[in-house]
Amino acid sequence: MPKKALITGLTGQDGSYLAELLLSKGYQVYGLVRRSSSGNISRISHLSGNVQILSGDLLDQCSLMDAIAASQPDEIYNLASQSYVPLSWTQPSLTAEYTALGVSRLLESIRRCKSDAKFYQASSSEVFGQPDESPQTERTAFRPRNPYGVAKAYAHWMTINYRQQYNLYACCGITYTHESPRRGAEFVFRKITRAAAMIKLGLAQELKLGNLDARRDWCYAQDAVYAMWMMLQHEQPDDYIIASGETHSVRELVECAFNCVGLNWQDYVSVDPAFYRPDEPVQLVGCIDKIQTQLGWKPHSTFNRLVELMVDYDLKELSNSKA
Ligand code: GDP
Repeated sequence: MPKKALITGLTGQDGSYLAELLLSKGYQVYGLVRRSSSGNISRISHLSGNVQILSGDLLDQCSLMDAIAASQPDEIYNLASQSYVPLSWTQPSLTAEYTALGVSRLLESIRRCKSDAKFYQASSSEVFGQPDESPQTERTAFRPRNPYGVAKAYAHWMTINYRQQYNLYACCGITYTHESPRRGAEFVFRKITRAAAMIKLGLAQELKLGNLDARRDWCYAQDAVYAMWMMLQHEQPDDYIIASGETHSVRELVECAFNCVGLNWQDYVSVDPAFYRPDEPVQLVGCIDKIQTQLGWKPHSTFNRLVELMVDYDLKELSNSKA
């Protein structure tokens, strides 16, 4: 009997990579998809036929119970949320409904319908907000600084509470920024790799950026979803930081991306205050000792390799569309 997995947020970056990973391991994969969603299925169109789509919504408890009853999953991965931080300020209640209460509904549905299913909750480094230590560990205090981070903190603690109270196999993975060619160009990593490719192909002349000294802990999304899967294969449920464990600046990123296409970044990049953030958090960087020691996970892709693979992808994609 193949294992069965139910993924919420199937159409997102992580959901699509996780579905690919689980299919390659012989799982039967079910994806919970919002019926009202406007059909953003570009990331999973290549999987159609292999993944069974179930209609449901984190806002509706019955639909979650029905999806679990229909799929009888061994593993459930909750990758769905309202995850756009600026929107969490303009729609804080909706963010809480999806990102916080949605997880309550899911946990309660698991408890009632399939209490032996293993559960992965996507926590985020946004729960740390302005942390009082760097790097952060699984024991660093949460000080979220936006409604999204607050909602993720609630979901994190509810998952732990359900584990303690009801003995569910429920885990939280605290992921830091993770990137891939499926990432949107509003995020600085993709913005830079795409711009380097466009300039190389003569499709653009310049790139405007904000704070070049900002630093992030960037990891490859495929590495991150592998960690999620590993967490559910362990004997004991637990919570882990999933990160690269190192930071790089936007300046290093831009230099590396332009090197990949054989150009000098200083000839093309200018700083535009419009892209500056008013309130940059202290350095967010994850300590990955726990996941490394207990699960044997570490990221495969280095920072340079990740930049290279994204620039290569953007060059190919843009060349094809040009042709
Ligand atoms: P997130 O803030 O981690 O969700 O990811 P982003 O990719 O949007 O931003 C990463 C960092 O890059 C932030 O510290 C920004 O201040 C910095 N940054 C510098 N220039 C830019 C830019 O042009 N666009 C964006 N999005 N971020 C920039």
